[in-house]
Amino acid sequence: MNNKPIKYQSYFGKPLVYIDITNECSIGCEFCMYRDKHGSSNLVMNAVTRALIGNLSSGAMLVCISGEGEPLNAPSLCLDVLESISRGTAVEFISSGIVSWSRFDRFIEILDEKAALQDLIITLRISVDKWHFAKARDGLYRRIAERVLSSGRIRLRFRSVLSDYATVKKRLINEFSSCPGRIHWRWCSQIEASIASEEFVIPIDFKSLAYSGNSLVRAGGGDLINYLSGLEMRYGRRFTLGNLSSVSKLPGPDIVIKHDGVVSLYGLESVLRWRVDDVTLDLEMIQVTISNTPLIHLLYSMPLMDVIESVDSTERIWEILLQSNNPYWAVREIVSLFGDEIAELAADRRAFSGYEGRS
Ligand code: SF4
Repeated sequence: MNNKPIKYQSYFGKPLVYIDITNECSIGCEFCMYRDKHGSSNLVMNAVTRALIGNLSSGAMLVCISGEGEPLNAPSLCLDVLESISRGTAVEFISSGIVSWSRFDRFIEILDEKAALQDLIITLRISVDKWHFAKARDGLYRRIAERVLSSGRIRLRFRSVLSDYATVKKRLINEFSSCPGRIHWRWCSQIEASIASEEFVIPIDFKSLAYSGNSLVRAGGGDLINYLSGLEMRYGRRFTLGNLSSVSKLPGPDIVIKHDGVVSLYGLESVLRWRVDDVTLDLEMIQVTISNTPLIHLLYSMPLMDVIESVDSTERIWEILLQSNNPYWAVREIVSLFGDEIAELAADRRAFSGYEGRS
């Protein structure tokens, strides 16, 4: 790790930082992708953790605060994390919104104050899909929208973990139909819609993240190829690991901080692990590791489909893809099964291509 990449700023795009602060949740959605991981583990904040969050968030495309549970179960921790984030950063909270109304109301009030104090661009992203709908009382999404949009500074988005467009549209149109003015549903792309009136516009993202059993997603298998093409159209670049919205030569790192203190790269958790209390860890060390580890560099720089077509196990990897609907989880599985083969491809390419990522 001694050789550092030249010109980090131009070589790497901006990082995307996920902070999964807790694994606590008792809502009990039928599908929950983390249901076998729920407990009472919360991220421990100390001076080293705060410094790391400050370092990683400085210049980040987005900091996403979520959990393997419901982050609003730990509102004080959410705010502690927020205070460590660099001024002017875009921050997103992912929540079910299914918490007591007094807690939600107070949280939005404090969030609004923090947005002003730290000059943060804060978005609340509320999960909407058939499983959350089954747990949410009638009218919740309209009530959330009214509260958040009246806050002044907090933005609101909805997110479905399934491409189950009809269910989401029906519930939201029903709830918002009593709002003043005409309600419109618009498609913005294959994986984005919005619900709007003359008074507001709320974007809705459709993902392919449903879980149905083990480390690999099986529900809705076969959706992955469509989902990848939607992502590629949205970002105007072919799918690799990393933050696709970066326009730089190499995508920015997708960094994940887990509630148990493990730090890794999204999709590469089986090959790379740091600790949140490692005083030497910072963005530069992560960039150096990506740059100097052939397997990781390849997955950040070569389109996933090209990687798959270039190894001997193409057909077996396709079997995984056809049963998947989350590209990052598919990569996690592919790397754990075929990592050696991909590493060999990476070493060959580096040997023959005059690698330019190091000084
Ligand atoms: S609210 Fe989220 S974390 Fe909780 S059970 Fe539902 S999907 Fe899982």
